[in-house]
Amino acid sequence: MSTDPSQSTMQSALNKARELDAQDPLAEFRDRFWIPRHSDGSDQLYFCGNSLGLQPKALAGEMEQELKSWQELGVAGHFEGPYPWMPYHEFLREPLAQLVGAKPHEVVAMNSLTVNLHLMMVSFYRPEGERRRIIIEQQAFPSDRYAVTSQIRFHGLDPDDCLVELAPADGQRYIDESQIEDFLAEHGDTVALVLWPGVQYASGQVFDLKRIAAAAHAAGSAVGFDLAHSAGNVPLALHDSGCDFAAWCSYKYLNSGAGGVAGCFVHERHSQRNDLPRFHGWWGHHQQSRFKMGQQFVPSPGADAWQLSNPPIMAMAPVRVSLAEFEAAGMERLRAKSLKMTGYLAELIQAELDDVLEIVTPLEDSRRGCQLSLRVRAGREQGRALFEYLEANGVITDWREPDIVRAAPVPLYNRFEDCWGFVNHVLKWTQK
Ligand SMILES: *Cc1c(COP(=O)(O)O)cnc(C)c1O
Repeated sequence: MSTDPSQSTMQSALNKARELDAQDPLAEFRDRFWIPRHSDGSDQLYFCGNSLGLQPKALAGEMEQELKSWQELGVAGHFEGPYPWMPYHEFLREPLAQLVGAKPHEVVAMNSLTVNLHLMMVSFYRPEGERRRIIIEQQAFPSDRYAVTSQIRFHGLDPDDCLVELAPADGQRYIDESQIEDFLAEHGDTVALVLWPGVQYASGQVFDLKRIAAAAHAAGSAVGFDLAHSAGNVPLALHDSGCDFAAWCSYKYLNSGAGGVAGCFVHERHSQRNDLPRFHGWWGHHQQSRFKMGQQFVPSPGADAWQLSNPPIMAMAPVRVSLAEFEAAGMERLRAKSLKMTGYLAELIQAELDDVLEIVTPLEDSRRGCQLSLRVRAGREQGRALFEYLEANGVITDWREPDIVRAAPVPLYNRFEDCWGFVNHVLKWTQK
């Protein structure tokens, strides 16, 4: 065994991981999250923050506080207690705006992601005459595809005619932004909406949002982004991107618990428009006169006008608590660590496992976030077997059909040594 060259390179890779962890300015944040345990009592190597982020330890006390407000104050909890419920969404506004690079009145926390996509399309998918197509990427997340297809039908149109799914060019693994530009240059007058991901969920590819928004607008189309895998993962500059709208969920990188309240962005250029169709509810009514219970809807300024109902406080508290962790860590520092840590993992995979794993995610800094999408070269069956082996050994990744293992080292709570452990477990699997 001592002659095995990978033993000594793995040993020096482990030393390097420990050194990087020791120098990590964000290392203390790991202690602020609950790390699930493996059956042997050790911490899991948790690489699933792209699917369900971990729970901040500060949350239980804050939830307890909301329960106590309700117990002790009853209806007065709307106005009293540390975080009165009436203006509760206001407490989330600033950190949310900071996180996605928006002005405060451009963002609101409400509903869930697919609901927000529908509400946004009510306003921003306005097919008219020949201009009626929606562009999405081939292999879009199913919920997004269901949403756009049903929106097209809602307008009495046919998805076969109106849904365009752009695929990578022949022989390419990724859709380049230039393909969207080319399509729009040629067919732009038939396009009513471009709905694009910030980070593609299966490949982990990061897109240049500003470039896509500019191409869509030049063609006369509206443009919106699904940021499910971007928010809390990569720095965003939504206002500057110029997009019309965006929506994202909060239970992935944003650690707000299963089904947590989602986020929504509407660019300020739309904030005072009265000509946009919009589905209304009382929480979108201007707050100064909301409780006059008048018959006429008076919109709140900004994204707030899209709110429907009074928000679920028990589901908003986790978003507030998690956003405070992001504020404390800072997106810039998180991104710096993320690039380094995912880079470390990618390099170690290439050095030790090149014949076993193909890295599907593009590796240029500007085209990736935390996540690496990995394909077992021996095929789907072996891919499933690896995924299950890892899980049985406390290494939590996820499986995406047809053949992808996704592993996301998250800078808030993962360590470089976790990444080393991942590679070490895969090596053990190959030696079985
Ligand atoms: C996670 C995810 C969803 C999930 O939608 P919900 O409405 O939150 O259940 C939708 N779209 C994309 C791209 C996702 O990654």
